[in-house]
Amino acid sequence: MPDKFDAIVVGAGAAGLAAAYKMAGEGLSVVVIERGDYPGAKNVMGGVLYRSAMEELIPEFWKEAPLQRPVVEQRFWLMDSQSAVTTSYKAQEWAREPYNCFTVFRGQFDQWFARKCAEAGAIIINETLVESCIVENGRVVGVRTNRPEGDLYANVVVLADGVNSMLSKQLGFHKEWEPRQVALAVMEELKLPSEVIEERFNLDPGMGATIEIYGDSTLGMVGTAFIYTNKEHISIGVGALLSQIRQRKVRPYELLEYLKSHPMVRPLIKNGKPVEYYAHLIPEGGYNAVPQLVGNGVVVVGDAAQLVNGIHREGSNLAVTSGRLAAEAIIRAHKMGAFTARELSTYEENLRNSFVMKDLKKYKNASHLLETNPQYLNEYIPFTNMALHEMLTVDGISKWQKQKTIKERVLQQRSLFSLGKDLYKAWKAVK
Ligand SMILES: Cc1cc2nc3c(=O)[nH]c(=O)nc-3n(C[C@H](O)[C@H](O)[C@H](O)COP(=O)(O)OP(=O)(O)OC[C@H]3O[C@@H](n4cnc5c(N)ncnc54)[C@H](O)[C@@H]3O)c2cc1C
Repeated sequence: MPDKFDAIVVGAGAAGLAAAYKMAGEGLSVVVIERGDYPGAKNVMGGVLYRSAMEELIPEFWKEAPLQRPVVEQRFWLMDSQSAVTTSYKAQEWAREPYNCFTVFRGQFDQWFARKCAEAGAIIINETLVESCIVENGRVVGVRTNRPEGDLYANVVVLADGVNSMLSKQLGFHKEWEPRQVALAVMEELKLPSEVIEERFNLDPGMGATIEIYGDSTLGMVGTAFIYTNKEHISIGVGALLSQIRQRKVRPYELLEYLKSHPMVRPLIKNGKPVEYYAHLIPEGGYNAVPQLVGNGVVVVGDAAQLVNGIHREGSNLAVTSGRLAAEAIIRAHKMGAFTARELSTYEENLRNSFVMKDLKKYKNASHLLETNPQYLNEYIPFTNMALHEMLTVDGISKWQKQKTIKERVLQQRSLFSLGKDLYKAWKAVK
């Protein structure tokens, strides 16, 4: 082990491994420190991995990475207690190279990604917790680990320690996340034969589908549920803002059981044998919660920097992209031989010019809008279900009468003025 590295990466998740791969590939000496038994051991994702961000790093990675299924169809359900209004988009183009996205198991994928980093020259140290950054004269110069004689030194430390982000909090880059800035998600892997999955989801052999579910699946709390198809497993999960879970005193596993017993969901997962159960936080603070990203000798990437687009359930691609951009800034600083916040600030600049910060900015008020206006999930989704139920139930009542009934029921709960106002606010939050 060298006395000092060019870079230390804390956390072998999507963001940390992306940074390590890029820097090691450019010849920098890099060590990745991971607290889990192996990379991916502690990482949870639904999980849809997007092709484009990974491909920037490893062209045609899908030819060798352990992936589950390319996703060819994305479905969306607006769920009420006994029904759902559903829509979907299916593209044949997504069934062919270069694909759009894939379902993955992070336990497998992260181990493969870490092997690629090691092949590129990075050292991966598992089962080691970084307890703090070593700061000298206002500059991060290394990390203190829980191993005896476990101090390591480097020109730059990349904080890729995930959503809890203990280290950047210690540095004063942000305060403890508020419960409304994180969602608590629980999920299960259910084992089923691949032919059964393909038949139930109407898929060609080897192809995959995703379902995102809004409304009753979270009992109206801000969040979503999901069902993703893997080769021989279905991932099913649900997450909602921690603040609302606490307020409503809901137990997360009860939320998952409720979802699994819904009449729309039950047939899809019938006889699925539970093999794994996970619970994990997801950053939900969005643009307004992004902390300080750069300091002297240090950068923050991925979930640790709140880089998750909850509206589009994108996190892994933001993590990989931020890791890559941080690495590019460090490589540049390495050439200049200086590692203060000024040299490293090209990371922040490039992140702000990338889709990462632009997308977070676009949706910066969306989560807050749903949190402060529960009617979007609690009233409008049931209205939509009720309206379609009325119009599509053939019972001898005229469609004029049905339309009148729908209108009356909606107006009993919301005035025309508040409907217009809600529509405007929703448009403003996503425009
Ligand atoms: C239930 C769920 C479903 C999701 N679904 C999707 C999805 O479908 N698509 C998508 O794109 N995103 C999804 N996400 C989000 C996505 O998983 C994250 O955005 C992404 O994993 C972030 O990567 P990261 O490297 O920043 O953090 P992580 O992947 O969490 O990695 C952080 C790593 O740091 C390690 N670590 C932490 N602290 C220390 C320390 N002090 N010392 C040493 N090691 C440490 C951890 O063990 C971990 O390996 C989902 C998240 C959850 C919870």
